[in-house]
Amino acid sequence: MTRRILIIEDTPTIAKVQKHIAVSSGYAADIAGSLAEAKALVSQNQYFCAVVDFILPDAPNGEAIPCTIKAEIPTIVMTGNLDSQTRETVEKYPIIDYITKENKQAYQYLKRQLQRLPRNESVQVLVVDDSRQTRRYVSALLERHKYQVLEAGDGQEGLDVLQKHPDISVIITDNEMPIMSGVELCGEIRRLYSNDDKAIIGISGSNTSHLSARFLKNGANDYLRKPFNAEEFYCRLSQNVDMLDNIATIRLQANTDYLTKLPNRRYFFEQTTKTLKSRAVKQQNSTLAMIDIDHFKSINDQYGHDAGDDVLSALALTFNKFFEDDLEARLGGEEFAIFFQQGSIEDNLEQLELFRQYLDSNSVSLTPHKIHFTISIGFVSMVEQKIDALLKAADVKLYDAKEQGRNRIIN
Ligand code: GH3
Ligand code: MG
Ligand code: MG
Ligand code: MG
Repeated sequence: MTRRILIIEDTPTIAKVQKHIAVSSGYAADIAGSLAEAKALVSQNQYFCAVVDFILPDAPNGEAIPCTIKAEIPTIVMTGNLDSQTRETVEKYPIIDYITKENKQAYQYLKRQLQRLPRNESVQVLVVDDSRQTRRYVSALLERHKYQVLEAGDGQEGLDVLQKHPDISVIITDNEMPIMSGVELCGEIRRLYSNDDKAIIGISGSNTSHLSARFLKNGANDYLRKPFNAEEFYCRLSQNVDMLDNIATIRLQANTDYLTKLPNRRYFFEQTTKTLKSRAVKQQNSTLAMIDIDHFKSINDQYGHDAGDDVLSALALTFNKFFEDDLEARLGGEEFAIFFQQGSIEDNLEQLELFRQYLDSNSVSLTPHKIHFTISIGFVSMVEQKIDALLKAADVKLYDAKEQGRNRIIN
């Protein structure tokens, strides 16, 4: 679904820049050059958000802002300058943000906000506060920026909600609450969840200056003193969500093979090691296949290295289709592995044989150069604690498969 944005701006060059920013952030954009045009568009379309110019020919004093706000369209206001009167007018409305056009970084900032809004729809935030009124206020601020909001009335309830909703990534907590204080809740969250997965923002009306330090020392990432300003709240929140996003991206990159987008060797070792231990203790078999492309060197020699890369990517895609529920990885070069999560040995072997046959018959249709390629497979299933030992055993079988003429499974 493409998200629609309404840009209300009377200067065509600025409107064009804003449209470019919106489109490059994945939006479909409509431009209104006046309040009258905006009203007509709002009555005909559903908008995900709007960027509204403060001064328009038929709305010289921010009169276009209530037009989008009344239609419940999340609104970003662009102003030429920000004198106290303009600021007062702007702050009257529950807008997302306001941006001054004079500012050099204004358009970069707009881009960041436009990219954050769709992202926020999948970010779950838990608000913990014993005051229903404060909880509602904070939740309303969050909903305005399209976050998914959950609420809890005390620390214990907060921990219960966290357990039920493992995808919650930000916790905003009051301090003075019955049963468990916010600081105690922080400590408990940090005992249970990693800093890489959840950010905590502490809030308190207390004016003891030690409290911010106590929150931070107990694992909070940030602290706000009540009453806080909505703008500061949003800035701190966005920074924390951005930080979690960055950590998730780095983690994904560290675990993923750049070319094929499959899990890499590092991730494969990490994941299988956990499973292998618990299986070996119970004397259960672990099942693994090692896969190697046949005569891959001659494919590179004949078609070039890039065409060789196409073969690797095509093989990875096919992998995903055949072994959706199992752990696949590119171990390196043209070598891949599958660690089976389920099914009997016979099931696993049958699926591998189907995969081998599929490639033999259809590989030509998978790459632009129409390259025919085949694979050899070494298969083992045994009680084993160490992934190295399991891989070594599979490698011996793979060697046999190559020796016996390739394009086959040996177990
Ligand atoms: P065999 O059937 O015995 O497996 O023969 P082979 O030619 O497939 O095996 P060999 O180990 O001799 O050669 C593997 C080749 O894979 C050599 C190497 O240049 C190529 N290769 C490794 N990584 C990549 C890559 O990322 N891209 C491309 N295009 N080639 C790669
Ligand atoms: Mg309280
Ligand atoms: Mg090979
Ligand atoms: Mg090889």
